[in-house]
Amino acid sequence: MIKILPNCIGCGKCVSICPFGALSLVNGKANVNSACTLCGSCVPNCPVKALQMPPKEEEVKDLSAYKDVWVFVELVNAKGALKIRPVSLELLTKGRKLAAELGQNVCAVIIGADNGAHFAELSSYGASKIYSVQDPAYAQYNTEAYASAMVKLISKYKPAAVFYPSTYTGRDLAPRIAAEMFVGLTADCTGLSVKNGNIVQTRPAFGGNIMADIICPNHRPQMATVRPNVMPKEITAQGSMAQIIEEVVPVSPAASKVRVLKTEKDEVGEVEQLDEAQVIISGGRGLKTKENFEIINNLACVLGGAVGASRAAVDAGWKAKEHQVGQSGVTVKPKLYVACGISGALQHIVGMQDSDIIIAINKDANAPIFNYAKYGIVGDVQQILPKVLEAVKQTKK
Ligand code: FAD
Ligand code: SF4
Ligand code: SF4
Repeated sequence: MIKILPNCIGCGKCVSICPFGALSLVNGKANVNSACTLCGSCVPNCPVKALQMPPKEEEVKDLSAYKDVWVFVELVNAKGALKIRPVSLELLTKGRKLAAELGQNVCAVIIGADNGAHFAELSSYGASKIYSVQDPAYAQYNTEAYASAMVKLISKYKPAAVFYPSTYTGRDLAPRIAAEMFVGLTADCTGLSVKNGNIVQTRPAFGGNIMADIICPNHRPQMATVRPNVMPKEITAQGSMAQIIEEVVPVSPAASKVRVLKTEKDEVGEVEQLDEAQVIISGGRGLKTKENFEIINNLACVLGGAVGASRAAVDAGWKAKEHQVGQSGVTVKPKLYVACGISGALQHIVGMQDSDIIIAINKDANAPIFNYAKYGIVGDVQQILPKVLEAVKQTKK
């Protein structure tokens, strides 16, 4: 908090200046509360120089002990078998490039019950070391257990940076680790680069209107969650095998208090997999009602795909936020993306433009979405979609 010196004359100038409402006059003197963010705005406005910022933490930390770029590997259950979520491989690909610039290694960290099955794949995506914590108790993701294992590994090996997928698991896990390690965390990054030995973490800010570059020069590790599908994944070391470092971390007592009794999947086109879906049927404001969205669900179901939505459809309450595709939603890269009644606003396009094939259905022949579509159908979605659904059902017979 800002320091108020005894020479305050109680003029009240600072009270109106503070953008956080942290100052008030009490008994004729300025008084500060815990809302003070130390922004410094009030300091130059005091006529008697009675406001003082606390001395900066000038302590020069020795960060040289912190080396290597780590990627937390997320496993998902796909049709009964555990597989690595593609975003972890995207992070390894990127991590390898960053580590090369820093003259360090990229390392994978995997926590689970049977990790050995994934070592070859992680190695082929460039991991030069794999830290493996294996125990039947880690078979299912558990916030406390995984966070506690990660904290132990980070404290012991001191990585310079740790990246997590910006998925439900990554978003749950990373903040807890950041809080325990007392370091920062940049959420939902769309870009990572290196400048002056620091990782520049780029993410949309102010509702996506600007891109912010965030650095963490004084603390280690630098930590970020990164969105799926914003970075390419690339096999870089086919056939090679990383150094495996097995660590035994007993499950923390706090974690053993929590048991997952049942896992229930979401409705059709389970949202968790929107970012990995090969087929996405998306609806926009052109659908007009929530009930009309049903046909999107049905088509996605018949094609074995996921359901997407524009922000207008989400704002209208026709679909949950998790289905939103775009700048402030999910970035997708399916083989087939069908945009139904979506105009093609830039904020939607940036989230789906890398789809292999885009089909647009819109009654307005001049809708911008047609500039990105490989195939376009001009017409009323209410008339076209039932026919498409019927045709798909027929071909599936
Ligand atoms: P509209 O733009 O209203 O388009 C509806 C379309 O449906 C029109 O082209 C119309 O011709 C067509 N149509 C109408 N009736 C029919 C019919 N019967 N048959 C066929 N076609 C029909 N948007 C996103 O989608 N994702 C984001 O992540 C996102 N983030 C944003 C972030 C910021 C900071 C801002 C400012 C905006 C963001 N938006 C986002 C909103 C975006 O700008 C658009 O407003 C939104 O994408 C429009 O959704 P829409 O295409 O469904 O609706
Ligand atoms: Fe308010 Fe900023 Fe002054 Fe703190 S430093 S009292 S937040 S104006
Ligand atoms: Fe006191 Fe300075 Fe604030 Fe006036 S501007 S109330 S003198 S701290």
